[in-house]
Amino acid sequence: MVLVPGMALGDGAEMYQLGADAANYAMDELGFEKGDLNVLAVTNAGYPVIDDQTTEMCLDAVMEVSGCTPGKENLVNILSAPWKPLWFGFFNKNTGEAVYMTVNADASGFDLQEKGKIDAEYVLSNVETWNPGVFGSILPIANIWAHEKTPNIFMKAVCFHDHLCPGVSSGFLEAKYVEEKLPITDPSNQSYKVIACPNWCKDDYFQVAWDCTPGKKGMYVKYLTADETNALTAKYGTRVAGIFVRWDGSSNSGDGLVLGFDFDKAENMSNTDTWPSWAYRLKEDQVLMDAADSPEEFVSTIKEFHLENNDELLALQGAGINPLKVLGVESG
Ligand SMILES: [Zn+2]
Repeated sequence: MVLVPGMALGDGAEMYQLGADAANYAMDELGFEKGDLNVLAVTNAGYPVIDDQTTEMCLDAVMEVSGCTPGKENLVNILSAPWKPLWFGFFNKNTGEAVYMTVNADASGFDLQEKGKIDAEYVLSNVETWNPGVFGSILPIANIWAHEKTPNIFMKAVCFHDHLCPGVSSGFLEAKYVEEKLPITDPSNQSYKVIACPNWCKDDYFQVAWDCTPGKKGMYVKYLTADETNALTAKYGTRVAGIFVRWDGSSNSGDGLVLGFDFDKAENMSNTDTWPSWAYRLKEDQVLMDAADSPEEFVSTIKEFHLENNDELLALQGAGINPLKVLGVESG
């Protein structure tokens, strides 16, 4: 073990070493040099706590050894609960190969280190024989990171959501749609408020992209039963996918949209009937990112509305209120 100069055991030196070992393994196996912009590092380092030791120093090591950094948009730092295992993944876009490793219980080394070819073009042309194995979580992350249309803010939302899925991708397209229809033109007074009814993975996107969090009253989360959701889908021919308000704090008024998201269309484009879920979900993530500049391919307006005052906003947000009924979208 090589100690970092000036750093004693217990100051994170062991964690630094783990991160360095992970990066060195990746560089050997994937054949890349420090600073290669076509290499992505993905890890939950910084969140797991092992024997009362935090794991942030792994991040410094990954950056210093591999050259992958947040500034170069090729270090993706996935949120985890502190009791979860610490893991590292690296993906080389040049070759389509990846490595994935998990750290053992006492942080003395790795209990798993595997290499595989995971690029979408390869795996989706071998759907019958390939399976993701240990690469299940980094498969969509690596391939959508490599997609030409993916903005870094999307990857930041993936970090917060802790995985990449068609649900968070639907949130991305809804946000693009809202930004187009109800743009923020007066940043000192305007902000978005999301009434997440019904809620799904999409709602983690808005929190990161718009800093629209429940704690700051930027988001209200309201569950709908499957029966309610299905009835609304039958009524509107698209999945009801949330309520969005551009609120103006100076006039205490707002403009709003109830949006729909056409998952049937996305699924029809992704071989959901014939492919295993890892394959059609990856395909669906690609299909949705392909529409980054044309969100209206999947997102539509079910209803537009205007809020005259604060009471009309409160009437959508309160406990025990179904805002879709208040707006007349859902009957009853
Ligand atoms: Zn999800």
